[in-house]
Amino acid sequence: MRQSGVVIRVPGKVNLGLSVGPLDSDGYHELVTVFQAISLYDDVTVKFGEAGAGITLSASGSTATGVPLDSTNLAYRAADLMVARYQLDSDIDIHLQKEIPVAGGMAGGSADAAGVIVGIDALFELGLSRDELQKIGAELGSDVPFGIAGGTAIGRGRGDQLTPVLAQGSYQWVLALSNSGLSTPSVYGECDRLREGLTISKPTANDALLQALRAGDAKELGRSLSNDLQSAACSLRPALRLVLDVGHDYGALGCIVSGSGPTVAFLVEDEEKALDLTVALSASGVVAGVARASGPTHGARRISSF
Ligand code: ATP
Repeated sequence: MRQSGVVIRVPGKVNLGLSVGPLDSDGYHELVTVFQAISLYDDVTVKFGEAGAGITLSASGSTATGVPLDSTNLAYRAADLMVARYQLDSDIDIHLQKEIPVAGGMAGGSADAAGVIVGIDALFELGLSRDELQKIGAELGSDVPFGIAGGTAIGRGRGDQLTPVLAQGSYQWVLALSNSGLSTPSVYGECDRLREGLTISKPTANDALLQALRAGDAKELGRSLSNDLQSAACSLRPALRLVLDVGHDYGALGCIVSGSGPTVAFLVEDEEKALDLTVALSASGVVAGVARASGPTHGARRISSF
Protein backbone atom coordinates (compact mmCIF):
# COMPACT_ATOMS: atom_id res chain seq x y z
CA MET A 1 0.00 0.00 0.00
CA ARG A 2 1.23 3.49 -0.81
CA GLN A 3 2.37 5.43 2.30
CA SER A 4 0.43 8.58 3.17
CA GLY A 5 3.10 10.36 5.14
CA VAL A 6 6.71 10.31 6.38
CA VAL A 7 8.51 11.87 9.33
CA ILE A 8 12.04 13.11 8.67
CA ARG A 9 14.36 13.99 11.55
CA VAL A 10 16.78 16.84 10.76
CA PRO A 11 19.71 18.08 12.85
CA GLY A 12 20.89 21.53 13.87
CA LYS A 13 24.54 22.37 13.26
CA VAL A 14 27.44 24.16 14.86
CA ASN A 15 30.28 25.65 12.85
CA LEU A 16 33.51 24.37 14.39
CA GLY A 17 35.42 26.74 12.14
CA LEU A 18 34.14 29.59 9.99
CA SER A 19 36.58 31.53 7.83
CA VAL A 20 34.96 34.46 6.00
CA GLY A 21 36.62 35.98 2.93
CA PRO A 22 36.16 39.53 1.63
CA LEU A 23 32.80 40.79 0.38
CA ASP A 24 32.53 39.91 -3.35
CA SER A 25 30.88 41.88 -6.13
CA ASP A 26 27.62 39.89 -5.72
CA GLY A 27 27.38 40.98 -2.08
CA TYR A 28 28.41 37.55 -0.75
CA HIS A 29 31.45 36.27 1.11
CA GLU A 30 33.41 33.22 0.09
CA LEU A 31 33.56 30.84 3.07
CA VAL A 32 35.46 27.86 4.31
CA THR A 33 33.55 26.33 7.17
CA VAL A 34 33.57 23.08 9.11
CA PHE A 35 30.05 22.01 10.04
CA GLN A 36 29.11 19.44 12.63
CA ALA A 37 25.54 18.12 12.86
CA ILE A 38 24.43 17.87 16.48
CA SER A 39 21.62 16.02 18.23
CA LEU A 40 19.18 18.89 18.53
CA TYR A 41 16.48 18.03 16.01
CA ASP A 42 13.38 19.25 14.24
CA ASP A 43 10.96 16.55 13.05
CA VAL A 44 9.38 17.32 9.69
CA THR A 45 6.19 15.46 8.77
CA VAL A 46 5.35 15.46 5.06
CA LYS A 47 2.03 13.94 4.00
CA PHE A 48 -0.58 14.13 1.27
CA GLY A 49 -2.85 17.12 1.95
CA GLU A 50 -6.52 17.76 1.37
CA ALA A 51 -7.48 17.93 -2.31
CA GLY A 52 -7.18 21.48 -3.61
CA ALA A 53 -5.37 22.81 -0.53
CA GLY A 54 -1.99 23.17 -2.28
CA ILE A 55 0.96 23.33 0.11
CA THR A 56 -0.07 23.73 3.78
CA LEU A 57 2.27 24.31 6.70
CA SER A 58 1.95 24.20 10.49
CA ALA A 59 4.45 24.18 13.37
CA SER A 60 4.65 23.22 17.03
CA GLY A 61 7.43 22.55 19.52
CA SER A 62 9.54 24.56 21.96
CA THR A 63 10.94 26.98 19.35
CA ALA A 64 7.95 27.29 16.99
CA THR A 65 6.69 30.67 18.24
CA GLY A 66 7.08 33.34 15.60
CA VAL A 67 8.16 31.01 12.80
CA PRO A 68 6.47 32.25 9.60
CA LEU A 69 3.89 29.79 8.25
CA ASP A 70 3.51 31.37 4.82
CA SER A 71 5.40 31.03 1.56
CA THR A 72 8.48 32.73 3.10
CA ASN A 73 9.15 29.66 5.26
CA LEU A 74 12.11 27.77 3.84
CA ALA A 75 10.21 24.49 4.28
CA TYR A 76 7.34 25.85 2.16
CA ARG A 77 9.81 27.06 -0.48
CA ALA A 78 11.41 23.62 -0.55
CA ALA A 79 8.02 21.99 -1.19
CA ASP A 80 7.20 24.55 -3.87
CA LEU A 81 10.49 23.87 -5.64
CA MET A 82 10.02 20.08 -5.52
CA VAL A 83 6.41 20.35 -6.82
CA ALA A 84 7.55 22.50 -9.77
CA ARG A 85 10.70 20.48 -10.54
CA TYR A 86 9.00 17.05 -10.50
CA GLN A 87 5.54 18.22 -11.61
CA LEU A 88 3.87 16.70 -8.56
CA ASP A 89 0.11 17.05 -8.82
CA SER A 90 -0.79 16.16 -5.20
CA ASP A 91 -1.44 18.56 -2.34
CA ILE A 92 1.23 18.48 0.36
CA ASP A 93 0.81 19.07 4.08
CA ILE A 94 3.92 19.83 6.17
CA HIS A 95 4.22 19.94 9.93
CA LEU A 96 7.37 21.18 11.68
CA GLN A 97 8.03 19.97 15.22
CA LYS A 98 10.69 22.55 16.12
CA GLU A 99 13.37 22.21 18.79
CA ILE A 100 16.24 23.94 16.93
CA PRO A 101 16.50 27.62 17.99
CA VAL A 102 15.12 30.09 15.43
CA ALA A 103 17.62 32.62 14.00
CA GLY A 104 20.13 31.06 16.38
CA GLY A 105 23.00 30.35 13.99
CA MET A 106 22.11 26.64 13.96
CA ALA A 107 20.50 26.52 10.51
CA GLY A 108 17.06 25.48 11.72
CA GLY A 109 15.22 26.79 8.67
CA SER A 110 17.71 25.09 6.38
CA ALA A 111 17.27 21.84 8.32
CA ASP A 112 13.50 22.04 7.78
CA ALA A 113 14.00 22.61 4.05
CA ALA A 114 16.32 19.59 3.99
CA GLY A 115 13.59 17.56 5.73
CA VAL A 116 10.98 18.56 3.16
CA ILE A 117 13.23 17.67 0.20
CA VAL A 118 14.07 14.25 1.66
CA GLY A 119 10.44 13.77 2.75
CA ILE A 120 8.98 14.53 -0.68
CA ASP A 121 11.55 12.26 -2.32
CA ALA A 122 10.42 9.44 0.01
CA LEU A 123 6.67 10.13 -0.16
CA PHE A 124 6.54 10.33 -3.96
CA GLU A 125 9.14 7.57 -4.38
CA LEU A 126 11.24 9.80 -6.63
CA GLY A 127 14.38 7.76 -5.98
CA LEU A 128 16.77 10.74 -6.05
CA SER A 129 20.38 10.24 -4.97
CA ARG A 130 21.81 12.13 -1.95
CA ASP A 131 23.85 14.15 -4.45
CA GLU A 132 20.74 15.19 -6.39
CA LEU A 133 18.90 16.02 -3.17
CA GLN A 134 21.80 18.21 -2.03
CA LYS A 135 21.94 20.02 -5.39
CA ILE A 136 18.26 20.91 -5.04
CA GLY A 137 18.94 22.02 -1.46
CA ALA A 138 21.69 24.38 -2.61
CA GLU A 139 19.13 26.25 -4.74
CA LEU A 140 17.28 27.19 -1.54
CA GLY A 141 20.12 28.14 0.76
CA SER A 142 23.77 27.45 1.40
CA ASP A 143 23.21 25.47 4.64
CA VAL A 144 20.53 23.17 3.16
CA PRO A 145 22.92 20.60 1.57
CA PHE A 146 24.58 20.08 4.95
CA GLY A 147 21.17 19.53 6.59
CA ILE A 148 20.76 16.63 4.14
CA ALA A 149 24.32 15.31 4.56
CA GLY A 150 24.89 15.62 8.33
CA GLY A 151 28.05 14.29 9.99
CA THR A 152 31.08 16.56 9.89
CA ALA A 153 31.91 18.29 6.61
CA ILE A 154 33.82 21.20 5.11
CA GLY A 155 31.66 23.68 3.22
CA ARG A 156 33.31 25.88 0.61
CA GLY A 157 31.98 28.59 -1.72
CA ARG A 158 28.97 29.85 0.16
CA GLY A 159 29.15 26.82 2.44
CA ASP A 160 27.21 24.64 0.00
CA GLN A 161 30.10 22.79 -1.69
CA LEU A 162 30.54 19.96 0.76
CA THR A 163 33.36 17.51 1.39
CA PRO A 164 33.03 15.03 4.26
CA VAL A 165 35.71 15.36 6.94
CA LEU A 166 37.55 12.40 8.37
CA ALA A 167 36.50 12.63 12.01
CA GLN A 168 36.79 10.31 14.96
CA GLY A 169 34.98 10.41 18.25
CA SER A 170 31.78 11.87 19.59
CA TYR A 171 31.76 15.32 21.15
CA GLN A 172 29.61 16.68 23.96
CA TRP A 173 28.11 20.15 23.57
CA VAL A 174 26.36 22.53 25.93
CA LEU A 175 24.40 25.23 24.11
CA ALA A 176 23.55 28.61 25.59
CA LEU A 177 20.32 29.82 24.00
CA SER A 178 19.09 33.40 23.62
CA ASN A 179 15.61 34.84 23.84
CA SER A 180 15.82 36.59 20.50
CA GLY A 181 17.67 35.73 17.33
CA LEU A 182 20.29 37.58 15.30
CA SER A 183 19.70 38.12 11.60
CA THR A 184 22.44 36.48 9.53
CA PRO A 185 22.66 39.40 7.00
CA SER A 186 23.04 41.95 9.80
CA VAL A 187 25.90 39.94 11.37
CA TYR A 188 27.70 39.81 8.00
CA GLY A 189 27.06 43.56 7.64
CA GLU A 190 28.61 44.20 11.05
CA CYS A 191 31.57 41.97 10.12
CA ASP A 192 32.16 44.12 7.01
CA ARG A 193 31.90 47.29 9.07
CA LEU A 194 34.45 46.03 11.62
CA ARG A 195 36.79 45.06 8.78
CA GLU A 196 36.64 48.44 7.00
CA GLY A 197 40.10 49.53 5.86
CA LEU A 198 41.65 46.08 6.49
CA THR A 199 42.95 43.77 3.77
CA ILE A 200 41.02 40.51 4.04
CA SER A 201 42.57 37.39 2.56
CA LYS A 202 40.84 34.41 1.01
CA PRO A 203 39.16 32.11 3.51
CA THR A 204 41.21 29.10 4.60
CA ALA A 205 40.68 25.72 6.22
CA ASN A 206 41.81 25.51 9.83
CA ASP A 207 44.46 22.77 9.73
CA ALA A 208 44.75 22.39 13.52
CA LEU A 209 40.99 21.84 13.72
CA LEU A 210 40.99 19.23 10.95
CA GLN A 211 43.92 17.44 12.58
CA ALA A 212 42.10 17.41 15.95
CA LEU A 213 39.04 15.86 14.26
CA ARG A 214 41.17 13.24 12.50
CA ALA A 215 42.80 12.33 15.82
CA GLY A 216 39.54 12.47 17.80
CA ASP A 217 41.27 14.87 20.22
CA ALA A 218 38.58 16.86 22.05
CA LYS A 219 41.06 19.09 23.93
CA GLU A 220 42.82 20.12 20.72
CA LEU A 221 39.47 20.60 19.00
CA GLY A 222 38.38 22.90 21.83
CA ARG A 223 41.51 25.00 21.38
CA SER A 224 41.05 25.15 17.59
CA LEU A 225 37.41 26.30 17.37
CA SER A 226 37.28 29.56 15.40
CA ASN A 227 34.62 31.83 13.95
CA ASP A 228 35.31 35.01 11.95
CA LEU A 229 31.75 36.18 12.69
CA GLN A 230 32.15 35.97 16.45
CA SER A 231 33.34 39.56 17.01
CA ALA A 232 30.50 40.87 14.82
CA ALA A 233 27.90 38.83 16.74
CA CYS A 234 29.38 40.05 20.06
CA SER A 235 29.45 43.62 18.79
CA LEU A 236 25.70 43.45 18.01
CA ARG A 237 24.93 41.49 21.21
CA PRO A 238 27.55 42.46 23.86
CA ALA A 239 25.99 40.08 26.43
CA LEU A 240 27.45 37.19 24.41
CA ARG A 241 30.89 38.04 25.83
CA LEU A 242 29.53 37.35 29.33
CA VAL A 243 28.13 34.02 28.13
CA LEU A 244 31.52 33.06 26.65
CA ASP A 245 33.22 34.02 29.96
CA VAL A 246 31.01 31.60 31.92
CA GLY A 247 32.22 28.79 29.66
CA HIS A 248 35.89 29.74 30.15
CA ASP A 249 35.39 29.93 33.94
CA TYR A 250 33.72 26.52 34.15
CA GLY A 251 36.37 24.61 32.26
CA ALA A 252 34.84 24.19 28.81
CA LEU A 253 37.39 22.81 26.35
CA GLY A 254 36.28 25.44 23.85
CA CYS A 255 33.64 28.16 23.48
CA ILE A 256 32.31 29.46 20.18
CA VAL A 257 29.43 31.52 18.84
CA SER A 258 27.66 29.18 16.41
CA GLY A 259 27.61 30.61 12.87
CA SER A 260 26.06 34.07 12.99
CA GLY A 261 24.87 33.49 16.59
CA PRO A 262 23.52 34.19 19.08
CA THR A 263 23.64 30.53 20.23
CA VAL A 264 26.95 29.88 22.00
CA ALA A 265 28.31 26.33 21.84
CA PHE A 266 30.62 24.96 24.55
CA LEU A 267 32.63 21.82 23.96
CA VAL A 268 32.92 19.87 27.24
CA GLU A 269 35.00 16.91 28.31
CA ASP A 270 32.42 14.74 30.02
CA GLU A 271 29.03 14.49 31.66
CA GLU A 272 30.22 16.06 34.93
CA LYS A 273 31.62 19.15 33.20
CA ALA A 274 28.44 19.40 31.13
CA LEU A 275 26.33 19.42 34.31
CA ASP A 276 28.57 22.00 36.05
CA LEU A 277 28.39 24.30 33.07
CA THR A 278 24.63 23.81 32.61
CA VAL A 279 24.04 24.82 36.24
CA ALA A 280 26.44 27.77 36.00
CA LEU A 281 24.86 29.07 32.79
CA SER A 282 21.34 28.68 34.16
CA ALA A 283 22.31 30.55 37.35
CA SER A 284 24.21 33.30 35.49
CA GLY A 285 21.11 35.15 34.36
CA VAL A 286 22.75 35.85 30.99
CA VAL A 287 21.11 33.05 28.97
CA ALA A 288 17.49 32.26 28.15
CA GLY A 289 17.97 28.50 28.23
CA VAL A 290 20.53 25.72 28.05
CA ALA A 291 20.44 22.63 25.85
CA ARG A 292 22.71 19.59 25.62
CA ALA A 293 23.67 17.78 22.45
CA SER A 294 26.30 15.50 21.00
CA GLY A 295 27.83 15.42 17.58
CA PRO A 296 28.40 14.38 14.92
CA THR A 297 24.97 13.00 14.14
CA HIS A 298 23.11 11.99 10.97
CA GLY A 299 21.63 14.29 8.33
CA ALA A 300 17.96 14.37 7.27
CA ARG A 301 16.67 10.84 7.85
CA ARG A 302 13.28 9.14 7.79
CA ILE A 303 12.25 8.00 11.27
CA SER A 304 8.74 6.75 10.41
CA SER A 305 6.17 6.27 7.67
CA PHE A 306 2.39 5.95 7.99
P1 ATP B 1 21.72 30.14 9.65
O1 ATP B 1 22.55 29.55 10.73
O2 ATP B 1 21.54 29.26 8.46
O3 ATP B 1 22.06 31.53 9.30
P2 ATP B 1 19.68 30.56 11.59
O4 ATP B 1 19.68 29.30 12.37
O5 ATP B 1 20.38 31.72 12.19
O6 ATP B 1 20.23 30.24 10.18
P3 ATP B 1 16.92 30.13 11.02
O7 ATP B 1 16.40 29.49 12.27
O8 ATP B 1 17.10 29.28 9.86
O9 ATP B 1 18.22 30.98 11.30
O10 ATP B 1 15.88 31.32 10.70
C1 ATP B 1 16.21 32.58 10.18
C2 ATP B 1 14.91 33.31 9.82
O11 ATP B 1 14.30 32.61 8.75
C3 ATP B 1 13.91 33.32 10.95
O12 ATP B 1 13.97 34.52 11.65
C4 ATP B 1 12.57 33.09 10.28
O13 ATP B 1 11.86 34.30 10.15
C5 ATP B 1 12.88 32.59 8.88
N1 ATP B 1 12.45 31.19 8.64
C6 ATP B 1 12.03 30.73 7.45
N2 ATP B 1 11.75 29.42 7.52
C7 ATP B 1 12.01 29.01 8.76
C8 ATP B 1 11.92 27.75 9.43
N3 ATP B 1 11.50 26.64 8.81
N4 ATP B 1 12.30 27.69 10.72
C9 ATP B 1 12.76 28.79 11.35
N5 ATP B 1 12.83 30.01 10.77
C10 ATP B 1 12.48 30.13 9.49
